[in-house]
Amino acid sequence: DDSWLTLPNPANVPVEICAGPEVPIESAAIDELLTVLETADTLRALARATPGLEVEPRIDRVVCTPDFHKGAGIPIGTVLRTVGALIPQAVGNDINCGMWVEATDLTVDRLRPHLDTLERRLRHLFFEGGRRIGLTATQREGLLRDGLPGLLAGGVPTDADGAWRQVRPDDTTDLDGRLHATGFPVGSASGFRDWITSGGGTSYDSIIGSIGGGNHFAELQYVSAIHDGAAAHAWGLAPGRVVLMVHSGSLSLGHQANATGQDQARAGWPHGVPMPNNRILPMLLDEAGAPRRERYLTAFANAANFAIGNRFFLAMMLRAGLADVVGEIGSRLVYDAPHNLLWPDDDGTVVHRKGATPAGGITDHAHRGPELWGEPVIVPGSMGAPSYLLRGLGDTRALGSACHGAGRRVPRGAAARGSDAELDDFLREFRVVTPLDHRDPAIAGRRDIVDAWRRDLKQEAPWAYKDVGPVVDSLRRADVARPVAELQPILTVKG
Ligand code: 5GP
Ligand code: MN
Ligand code: MN
Repeated sequence: DDSWLTLPNPANVPVEICAGPEVPIESAAIDELLTVLETADTLRALARATPGLEVEPRIDRVVCTPDFHKGAGIPIGTVLRTVGALIPQAVGNDINCGMWVEATDLTVDRLRPHLDTLERRLRHLFFEGGRRIGLTATQREGLLRDGLPGLLAGGVPTDADGAWRQVRPDDTTDLDGRLHATGFPVGSASGFRDWITSGGGTSYDSIIGSIGGGNHFAELQYVSAIHDGAAAHAWGLAPGRVVLMVHSGSLSLGHQANATGQDQARAGWPHGVPMPNNRILPMLLDEAGAPRRERYLTAFANAANFAIGNRFFLAMMLRAGLADVVGEIGSRLVYDAPHNLLWPDDDGTVVHRKGATPAGGITDHAHRGPELWGEPVIVPGSMGAPSYLLRGLGDTRALGSACHGAGRRVPRGAAARGSDAELDDFLREFRVVTPLDHRDPAIAGRRDIVDAWRRDLKQEAPWAYKDVGPVVDSLRRADVARPVAELQPILTVKG
């Protein structure tokens, strides 16, 4: 089967890469992964220094998705299953970064004549103070403790004009995407408390409703092709219909939770075990470590819950912009898919996904009703490129995981291509809305600002990413997920 590669390694961990022959795999990412596998030795050293363990802690299996590329410490597109231990760094810094997709009943043909107005409206909502989300301390606390259901139990949040349009608690409360947090951690993560008390109900939040930089986005797309009629119909997708796709994470809150994880792992490190060269610090799932683990997992859940709330608001802002230009529309959540998260199991295994998305099959999601046709897998392409929705097949070889994007082909920071004029044409053609409007006369004179802005955006150009077609085809050929619909971009709001 030419869609899988096995990676032999000194640690003798089963490592498999899902990628067809047309998908480039960076050798730097392979090198980085080999370094990660040295954690197998760290786990053995920790076990020797910790008497009374019931299971031998180990890395059980690693899967790399077709968008695999070098990250910071651990490559993006790594799924890592452990036994008897968890590895905070294997989740990535942006805890619960994820993709939120809604299917609307609006057609692209009806929207087309209004795109100039919509662009201005969205610029105002996202970047010019139009986003005014008033949250009470109760709603904030509810969100951090219990995700969207917690937020909505405290009443529907308001915007400057009153209630937000089309909040549909029924669609959102049955999401799996919430993590129950028992409270808030103290110490390095006390910033969670600060966030709760910072709003006070009357002032508007300055953090929630922001997209985050770089590769995060809020995008309007339309269904350009259907590959699986039954699943598409069940998900509310039809040719020409407008789709909302949001990619965002936990902003600064995820970093705080990670700092808590690092602090707790370091504080619980047994004397006599040297700090590992690869700087990856696992936490054993032993009895004595429970309080430290609990502190990390609480901060982790707080950040994860914040992220899903943020995606909820970003999607609402897109809907509010659409409603302003075409009137009320119907819209329904297809899925919220986290790609930086860990999934502990009762059997002592932990699945970590860093830049990889769950792709469970029909039976894994029977509780949502058979009409789901498998877990929705969301694979965005890049700015200006098509994106795909697929249905997961629950493949055990892939650890029930798929890629969460096309993945970078060129590392960020590498020499950018294309002239300024080409970039400007591209941004206009694909209606990319950014925080900086370089046509604004007040900005146009600031060469330093405009140059830095162009440099960042060139790093996000389509040529910097892999072609999404072969990436999606790898998933299909490997029986990881089947394509349901293809989406073309209409307008992209970048963080
Ligand atoms: P991440 O940042 O979570 O690792 O990757 C997200 C994925 O989103 C990237 O691999 C890339 O394929 C995709 N992506 C990045 N920017 C955009 C964009 O502006 N629009 C779309 N549709 N996809 C994007
Ligand atoms: Mn992110
Ligand atoms: Mn992400």
